[in-house]
Amino acid sequence: MKNSFKYIAGLVVCLIIGLFLIYQLPHQKMLVSFLNVGQGDSIFIRTPDDYTVLIDGGPSANVLDELGEVVPIYNRTIDLIILSHPHADHVNGLVEVVKRFKVKQVLIVGTPYHNTFYKEFLRVINQNEISLNIARANNDIKVGDYVYIDILWPIKSMVGKHFENVNNASLSLRVLFEGHSVLLTGDAEIEEESEIVASGFDLSANILKAGHHGSRTASSEIFLDKVDPETVVIQTGIQNEFGHPHKETLRKLFKREVKVRRNDLEGRVDFIFD
Ligand SMILES: [Zn+2]
Repeated sequence: MKNSFKYIAGLVVCLIIGLFLIYQLPHQKMLVSFLNVGQGDSIFIRTPDDYTVLIDGGPSANVLDELGEVVPIYNRTIDLIILSHPHADHVNGLVEVVKRFKVKQVLIVGTPYHNTFYKEFLRVINQNEISLNIARANNDIKVGDYVYIDILWPIKSMVGKHFENVNNASLSLRVLFEGHSVLLTGDAEIEEESEIVASGFDLSANILKAGHHGSRTASSEIFLDKVDPETVVIQTGIQNEFGHPHKETLRKLFKREVKVRRNDLEGRVDFIFD
């Protein structure tokens, strides 16, 4: 009887130490993961102090499988969801995410757009009483103790403002962490890129997600000059109907000798910073 008590006590101590180690491990590193969601965008960030951010959710609930690979089992919370713009390949997957995860805050641009998934996304946010905020440049966000999200676009509030091309209403931001930077511009095309350049903000970034899935309508030379990335990630699906990434964009990137990473060729693309 005495021995079995010692055995159980030993087991409990091991379990507690094990759980403690599992909990501690992610604290040391920063993860930026370009999820493999097919033809669409979805980027997951886990900060060194274990805050989680999801930018876009791709075109379908497939994002849940990808999140299952990067979100720790013990933590079903997403601290911040950012929606670049309400096109299907960015918002649709987020509907299941807001239903299944405990989401604390959502950031959107607020431009009106008819998409039943977007409507449902907003309905669930309201129903679950999730804090909904409108993005504005200079309203920067601190995530935990180590990570800043520098909002670059929109410069003025876009609530109620109709866009003929909603791609150019894309929320653009720079994620800053201990000397590293990641620039994300959703589906911003050359028109929005030009306005961001004209704003005079610091756009330099180690990692750039190619705007609009590597389309020839984005990644202008002047914009690439300002960003000067070491690595460009292109989020596209295999043999997508748009022919993304376009060869004009790939040619530009190869000429600049930047490293190109692609979801359609590699699956999920992860960056881990110490
Ligand atoms: Zn898109």
